[in-house]
Amino acid sequence: MDFFDELLDKARVAFDVAVKATEDVVDTGKQKFNIASLESKISKDYKTLGEAFYAFKKNGEIDDAAVDELILSIDEKLLKIEEIKEEIRNSKADRVCANCGAAIEENTIFCPFCGQKLEFTTEEE
Ligand SMILES: [Zn+2]
Repeated sequence: MDFFDELLDKARVAFDVAVKATEDVVDTGKQKFNIASLESKISKDYKTLGEAFYAFKKNGEIDDAAVDELILSIDEKLLKIEEIKEEIRNSKADRVCANCGAAIEENTIFCPFCGQKLEFTTEEE
């Protein structure tokens, strides 16, 4: 398997994860939707980055400014996702998954979003 195949595979996995996140999100409210939407945008950014890198390896041409901008944009989205997860953690939810930050109903043993076995932690505020 050569490098580009591997890169494509990784992009595909990232894309599948983003799609799955979008499907999971329907009944979990706006914040979860926003996270999925950001993750989906990040996947597209990764794809664009991959194409830029592909062109670079092939033709030796790369738009450094555009790539820097993309990376910055990905970082901003990742930060925003963390902010939203923090909002979810600080929301009225009785319980929060320690792994993915999702708000969990009472009497749930496994997180419905990531499968994490839940500890009995409650918000202390
Ligand atoms: Zn979880």
